[in-house]
Parts: sequence; structure tokens; C-alpha cells
Amino acid sequence: KILVSLDSVNKVYGDEVKTQVLFDVSLEIPQGQFLALIGPSGSGKSTLLNILGALDRPSSGTILINQQNLGQLSENQLADFRNKFLGFVFQFHYLLPEFTTIENVLLPYWIGKGKPNRQMFNEAQRLIERVGLANQINKRINLLSGGQQQRVAIARALLNRPQLILADEPTGALDTKAGDQVLDLMQEINGENNTTFIVVTHDRNVALRAERIIELIDGRICKDFFPQEVGKEK
Ligand code: ADP
Ligand code: ADP
Repeated sequence: KILVSLDSVNKVYGDEVKTQVLFDVSLEIPQGQFLALIGPSGSGKSTLLNILGALDRPSSGTILINQQNLGQLSENQLADFRNKFLGFVFQFHYLLPEFTTIENVLLPYWIGKGKPNRQMFNEAQRLIERVGLANQINKRINLLSGGQQQRVAIARALLNRPQLILADEPTGALDTKAGDQVLDLMQEINGENNTTFIVVTHDRNVALRAERIIELIDGRICKDFFPQEVGKEK
């Protein structure tokens, strides 16, 4: 089953001075894939990730996620779609340092729906245990290591049981060992729930462990291959 489908997506920034950042990007992502998006700085990775995350719209072209044409949704409907369908793991952003692990995991729920009920607390607790932070559940975030904080971000992204998780440099600020653990966790979740992952990364180790690598250069897909199947380019 194809979960994400992009057809000739272009992105142009600016009104007077126009800069085209994505050129005719077409791409199909099957459900359950673990995909790494790589490329030099300025090649359009964040722009593409924001479009895939329904945070930004293409200038032209179509994007379908789970057969839903995002171009046909209003801003409110897009917000709703993000909440139901997508999880975001963006580098440390949006973790509140003065709040505890469980408060941070429940934060999007607080913002979106108000006070969490017992069931949501239990679910948050289960996820915190799942990411290996049972002993840190009531600790303030600023007392956790970088790797632990990133695992809090993953637990939080999982709270609404998303089908698609978008991660922006999830290991970028971590040492090799902590980065490996975060990657292990994401791959386990990918295997357990068939959750699809799209990970923007500069980290060679992350990219090589992905099922599929897409490389952007100057806003175009220049490589699309399966690193485990050396030599077999798609
Ligand atoms: P990457 O994530 O690969 O570093 P980006 O998607 O952030 O690339 O940026 C691609 C290009 O688009 C860069 O040249 C950047 O300066 C430009 N760009 C990104 N966002 C905007 C914006 N809001 N307005 C104008 N140009 C932008
Ligand atoms: P940058 O790469 O420019 O530092 P980010 O990647 O942190 O910015 O964020 C890009 C966009 O994604 C922002 O507009 C932010 O509002 C949005 N965003 C990040 N996380 C979430 C989330 N969990 N839910 C909704 N929007 C998010």
C-alpha cells in the first residue's frame, strides 16, 4: 500500500524575487518504509519535510497521504490531519525544560484538547516506559541527557498513534552511542507498528541503516536507492 504520493511538486519562495527550491519532485512511499532524506545544506530537505508534514503547501503539484489530497484541505482540516495522522520529532524543539517527562509527552494533548484524562496518562506512561525512561517519568527535562530528551520527543510523537513520523536530524545533537540508541528505538517502532518514518539526516550511520535513501541536490531527487541492496538502484 502506498502511504505517501507526491506528483511533480514544486516549491517557490518569495513574491518579487522568486527562488525555486523544489523542482518536479515525484515520489511514492509505501506504508511501513523507513526512509532517509539526505543532501547538502540548502538542497531543500526541510522544505520537502514541511510539505510532507502538511506544515507547508507546494506551489504546484499534488501530495496525497493515505489517499487524502492535502491540497483540498483547509488550514483547519490540515491541522486536524496532522494531529490524527502525523508525528513530529524535531531536534529538541518544543520540549519545555522546566516541565517533567510526562508533562512534555502530554503537552500536545494539553494544547489541543485540554486536561488529559486517566486513560491519556496511562498511555503516556506506557510510551515513556516503551522508550526506556520509566525512571525519569517525573524528572524535569533539563535534568535529562540529550539522548534521553530525544526519546521523550519520540514518546510524545507516538501519543496519537501516528501512521507517519517525520524526524528532522533526530541524532544531530547526540554522540554516536546515544544516536545509535535513538535510531534503534525508531527502527523497533517501525517494525512493531508498521509506522512509516521519514528522517532527514546528515548522519551517514543513520542513512545507511535506513531501508531507502533519497538524496536531494538543488531541489531535485538525484538518487533513490536501497542501501542494503548494494548496486540495485531504483
Ligand atoms: P535544507 O533543509 O536541505 O538545508 P531548506 O529546505 O531549508 O534546505 O532550504 C532550501 C533553500 O530554500 C535554501 O536556499 C533556503 O535559503 C531557501 N528557503 C528556505 N525557506 C525559505 C523561505 N521561507 N523563504 C525563502 N527562501 C527559503
Ligand atoms: P527549523 O528547521 O527552521 O529550525 P523546525 O524544523 O523546528 O524549524 O520547525 C519547522 C516547522 O514545523 C515549524 O513551523 C513548526 O511550527 C512546525 N512543527 C514542529 N513540530 C511540530 C509539531 N509537533 N506539530 C506541529 N507543527 C510542528
